[in-house]
Amino acid sequence: MPFSPHADFLAATLAAAKTDFPASCTLTQLRMVWHGHGLLELVPHKLAAHADHILISAGIHGNETAPVEVLNTLLGDIIAGRLLLQARLLLVLGHPIALKSGERYIDFDMNRLFAGAHRQHPDAQEALRAAEIERTAALFFSTTPEGARRLHYDLHTAIRGSVFEKFAIVPFLHDKKQNDEQQAWLGGCGIEALLLHSAPAATFSYYTSHHCQADAFTLELGKARPFGENDLSRFAGIEEGLRRLLAAAKPRLAPCPLLFRAKYNLIKHSDAFRLNLDDKVENFTLLPDGMVIAEDGDTRYIAQGGHERILFPNPGVKPGLRAGIVIEPVAA
Ligand SMILES: [Zn+2]
Repeated sequence: MPFSPHADFLAATLAAAKTDFPASCTLTQLRMVWHGHGLLELVPHKLAAHADHILISAGIHGNETAPVEVLNTLLGDIIAGRLLLQARLLLVLGHPIALKSGERYIDFDMNRLFAGAHRQHPDAQEALRAAEIERTAALFFSTTPEGARRLHYDLHTAIRGSVFEKFAIVPFLHDKKQNDEQQAWLGGCGIEALLLHSAPAATFSYYTSHHCQADAFTLELGKARPFGENDLSRFAGIEEGLRRLLAAAKPRLAPCPLLFRAKYNLIKHSDAFRLNLDDKVENFTLLPDGMVIAEDGDTRYIAQGGHERILFPNPGVKPGLRAGIVIEPVAA
């Protein structure tokens, strides 16, 4: 069945085959352009010269459904005229197939396949999709005029609990400066902690930060649950922040969240890798000084100073991949 612009974007994306989408359609206030399955650009007919150019993505991991619902609500309000879009907007539903089956991924974690890493895994279906999303993002930002803001928020939820429930990851910036205004905006959305990455990564936000010169963030917004089981009131902060941003309304700003920096990755080199943390350990848990965090054959990872914390521990990854990040506070 052909897609109607007034239909539910999420439901239609999950139900549709790739070919069901029109190239574009025109509504009273804006034009909608489909760049592919779950890849939708919205351009207001009257776009101010310095309007923001905003990419919002969700569902890069198929089991992380709440941000997808938030994004779908915002889109429904834009189409119904309840939210007056004053920005150029690209919406990305990352992995429709995994979203449909409720799995994080099918062949390979898609958020390890950006910035060209998809070429190393040509057999994974996520590699094709990551390449398609990269092309779409690059095309979107390639027409952003000089001086306009380029923003990207990649929305996620996590399986494990977290000492700080809502946190943001700033991809490695190379020579770029941290954006204080964006940090205050994130604080206003209820983000409690910010992690500064210290090396390039194959994540979507690193790609748009480095290759599209966007102010890009991976946002971790709470617990991952299946469709229908999300308490969307827990996502009200980010929804309100995005709503104001899209309408070019005055943002809520708050003091900069707590700052951490990635110190080193725990790399799983072999199947002998052992992580000495409880399966249920929360993100941002403090690591006591001297603790052996993990062992892998002759390699031992030892906590130093008592200020380090663990992020994204996952001993189940394939050998060669990151099984966790050791982070430390950035001195104020
Ligand atoms: Zn995720």
